[in-house]
Amino acid sequence: MTAEIICVGTEILLGNIVNTNAAFMAEKLARLGISCYYQSVVGDNEGRLKEIALAAIKRSDIVIFSGGLGPTEDDLTKETVSEAFGRKLIEDEKAWKQIVKFFEKRKLKLTENNRKQALVPEGSVVLYNKNGTAPGIIIESDSTKAILLPGPPGELIPMWETYVDEYLMKQSAEFLLSETVKICGAGESMVETDLKDLIDGQANPTIATYAKVGEVHVRVTAKGSDEKECRKLIKPVVKEIKQRFGAKIFTTDENVTLEMSVIQLMMENKMTLTTAESLTGGMLCSRLVNVPGASNVLKQGLVTYSNKSKRKYLGVKRGTLDKHGAVSEQTAKEMAKGGAAQGKTDVCVSLTGIAGPGGGSEDKPVGLTYIAVCIDGKVKVREYLFEGERAKIRESATVAALTMLRSCLLESMTEKTFSTEK
Ligand code: ATP
Repeated sequence: MTAEIICVGTEILLGNIVNTNAAFMAEKLARLGISCYYQSVVGDNEGRLKEIALAAIKRSDIVIFSGGLGPTEDDLTKETVSEAFGRKLIEDEKAWKQIVKFFEKRKLKLTENNRKQALVPEGSVVLYNKNGTAPGIIIESDSTKAILLPGPPGELIPMWETYVDEYLMKQSAEFLLSETVKICGAGESMVETDLKDLIDGQANPTIATYAKVGEVHVRVTAKGSDEKECRKLIKPVVKEIKQRFGAKIFTTDENVTLEMSVIQLMMENKMTLTTAESLTGGMLCSRLVNVPGASNVLKQGLVTYSNKSKRKYLGVKRGTLDKHGAVSEQTAKEMAKGGAAQGKTDVCVSLTGIAGPGGGSEDKPVGLTYIAVCIDGKVKVREYLFEGERAKIRESATVAALTMLRSCLLESMTEKTFSTEK
């Protein structure tokens, strides 16, 4: 089964918006084991939309459109695709009622062109939209299926998850199941090298690595006649990966993030945390606050950007700053110790570094960062050199802090005594 994606909208062509829908849908198709051979973007132009729609319908089993389902004159996707399938547009009563309700709830005035959004091709499947007004549509012919979805990601993603995933799964004769092993503290090339024999010899299940900032995800995907068969195929491969990467694996649950695994670990051990951040300016704290239940662990987040604030709020000594500078292992250590003492928490993680683009020197280049973790009064510090632009350096530092915090916590729990480095 082959699929292709067509995203409709002049603003995507002009580069005004990034085509995140295509990335989202392509990833979903890959997970379902459906080959996606073409992705196109076309503006709100009837002739060109028709041209690409006809070509796609001819060459692909499934054609997925995003955007152009709105009420205005230049929203043409539904009209064009219906015409290509030789279908008339008729009003769907339920879709119209939902549109009326949507406007009433928000105290908005309905206009005549909103009625256009309740029109659907005759004989199509209507995907009701809980988050907007335009319903999604599935049109089927003997040879092709077209799936029309609204452009806003806040509407397209839930619609995909509610209807499209299941619909596509049913189209496929084979059952497909994936499990993702998430690794931190190792680069993609290292992970690939360590898995080379498994990757080279893969058939079913397949193994693919995906690099994220500071993380590598290894997805193991099996094809089989049912879920049970797929699970049986996946199990020994995941077991082998677990053996190779050990504690670097923070989860095999698709929905668990690195910060969730850290909060979980601390919650299980009834530990409390302070963050003391300089170059990341609160990013670490914010990532932790993303996790529901974070308040059980995280007691405070301090952003100490200037030397003065490092002294005032964390008790960093003037002499340390004068002698070693703000970006130094000594300062990072004092920040972590001071943060834990000030917040009366079991743990404090601190970061200090040079985010750039200015401020670097030969001795202390842009990207140089020190991260320290203080657990029960004992401090460990590590030096990092991150690459890239300011935003990338700050994000990499945040992930490295989560990774270091996790590994120090594990160490302190297994050894019971947290050994101090340097
Ligand atoms: P509506 O449901 O609001 O009537 P629509 O189906 O007509 O939407 P468009 O008008 O094409 O969709 O796009 C609406 C908005 O959705 C865009 O302004 C943009 O913010 C977002 N959007 C559209 N297409 C994409 C895309 N491919 N990737 C990311 N965002 C998109």
